[in-house]
Amino acid sequence: MRASKLYAPTLREVPAEAEIPSHQLMLRAGFIRKAAGGVYTYLPLAWRTLRKIEQIIREEMDAAGGQEIAMPIMQPSELWKESGRWEVFGEEMFKLKDRHGREFCLGPTHEEIITDLVRNEVRSYKQLPLLLYQIQNKYRDEIRPRFGLMRGREFIMKDLYSFDKDEAGLDISYKKMYDAYTKIFSRCGLVFRPVEADSGAIGGSNTHEFTALAQTGESEIAVCTKCDYAANVEKAESTVLYPEDETELPLEKKATPNTKTIETVIEYLQLPIEKSIKAVAFQDEKDKLICVFVRGDHEVNEVKVQNAVGAISLRMADKEAILAAGGVPGFMSPIGLRKGTVVIVDATVMEMKNACCGANEVDMHYINANPKRDFGEVLVKDVRLMQKGDACPHCGAPVQITRGIEIGQVFKLGIKYSSALRATFLDENGREKPLIMGCYGIGVSRTMAAAIEQYHDENGIIWPRAIAPYEVALVPVNAKNEAQMKLAEKIYAGLQQAGIEVLLDDRKERAGVKFKDADLIGYPVRVTIGPKAVEEDKIEVKVRKTGELVYFTEENYEEGIK
Ligand code: ATP
Ligand code: MG
Ligand code: MG
Ligand code: MG
Repeated sequence: MRASKLYAPTLREVPAEAEIPSHQLMLRAGFIRKAAGGVYTYLPLAWRTLRKIEQIIREEMDAAGGQEIAMPIMQPSELWKESGRWEVFGEEMFKLKDRHGREFCLGPTHEEIITDLVRNEVRSYKQLPLLLYQIQNKYRDEIRPRFGLMRGREFIMKDLYSFDKDEAGLDISYKKMYDAYTKIFSRCGLVFRPVEADSGAIGGSNTHEFTALAQTGESEIAVCTKCDYAANVEKAESTVLYPEDETELPLEKKATPNTKTIETVIEYLQLPIEKSIKAVAFQDEKDKLICVFVRGDHEVNEVKVQNAVGAISLRMADKEAILAAGGVPGFMSPIGLRKGTVVIVDATVMEMKNACCGANEVDMHYINANPKRDFGEVLVKDVRLMQKGDACPHCGAPVQITRGIEIGQVFKLGIKYSSALRATFLDENGREKPLIMGCYGIGVSRTMAAAIEQYHDENGIIWPRAIAPYEVALVPVNAKNEAQMKLAEKIYAGLQQAGIEVLLDDRKERAGVKFKDADLIGYPVRVTIGPKAVEEDKIEVKVRKTGELVYFTEENYEEGIK
């Protein structure tokens, strides 16, 4: 490729909305341009890197027995209604209607489509295991699309789905994917950790997130200082963040004892609680989800999420009666609640048990309350995130807290979708059984952004060689100098012949401009053709990562670059 032809418009000024290095640098270096919030065009350099990441993924998926397919992006609502997720997915789903009024969505994920695919085709245990995958755009109407490719509303994902005849089979498929992910991210040159990320009632080995370590990451992870234990501190998969401002949840709408809603919510959150909840306040915007369950006989007339102190407060409707009985008509959860909070309040017990800190006040606020001591059966589930110095659950050594980017996730689904959609097979004894499933995602476009978060400096990107758009930038110092250009062309041809991806910067720009651009775009290697190269046969090779300069001759430069 010649720089004079390359469509990579660089920017001097970065828009203020670009807050993190990957976003800034991809705009500055001409990798991406925004079409709408969270929706981007990938320019040639970005597209090359993305295709390299995809190729690495493809090779490892194929090596693990995966078969590539392409499912539709546009998905009929019927399947999502069958699985129960049409409502649950909520506002994060892009929904649309065709001219006949039939509903569709733009696929945020493909469990429904793939389960539908195999339920009609897979009949016997002999056809298992089956591993199918695709690499494709996904659509999620993220509440806060930001950080460029990091949290897009249209983004590229690889998603593989495994089908097995039993749990043992699923364990094998899961392990294969886990190992493949380790290879993929290693080949991409990333520094990452697989972390336990259990969701609700499901145990720790059920799902792992692959987290690229970076201070700009949105995931907080606890890493043991001694053994290899690492876990996402927010152990609930249904991520829960407090809204930024104090928010009132309109109970008339959200807390009406609507059995269906409550069950859906419990199911969605995979809570280990009985399904006899009386009321629920549930704010289901995905990123700001707060959930308060109230059981027992009492109506609640107000629930507030007070972000400033990290607490949930609620007031009972029949406070007179509760006060008369010596009970407490209000509740404020312990302060400092954070992500992942699900509060279950047992209104009956609350009435009977508590009297402390101002029992006569109408507004009972229990600051620093201890749920067990002060509220009896009130259950505040997993309200405290693991903190620095907490004991590692494996070896007891203190954990450290660090940040990272979720670049992939592997998940044992079991029969969640196969039972809902009746995807069954006949086992060795001719008995009909639901398929045992797993799903495994990699954020391809997010992985590119994560690489930049890990590898950049004040001058620009520093690509790991395996995913660099070009491996080498070949820079004649003076493109008007015939001898330099002649040598550059020769080396250009030589490198291409040797299978090295090279960009020849043939622009008639000052050398300084070209060097700056080479650093900004982040080619791992820069080869400079100046007077020294022409006159003294000294070809300068600069390693972007270390800044190291090495000199070669026309005879041996290829070796040096390799
Ligand atoms: P997050 O917790 O960041 O919202 P997720 O857990 O919702 O991600 P998954 O459903 O596990 O995402 O999807 C698989 C992978 O797709 C993620 O591990 C991530 O790398 C990528 N991904 C998810 N959402 C986005 C997004 N909005 N933009 C870019 N990549 C994404
Ligand atoms: Mg998400
Ligand atoms: Mg996640
Ligand atoms: Mg995930």
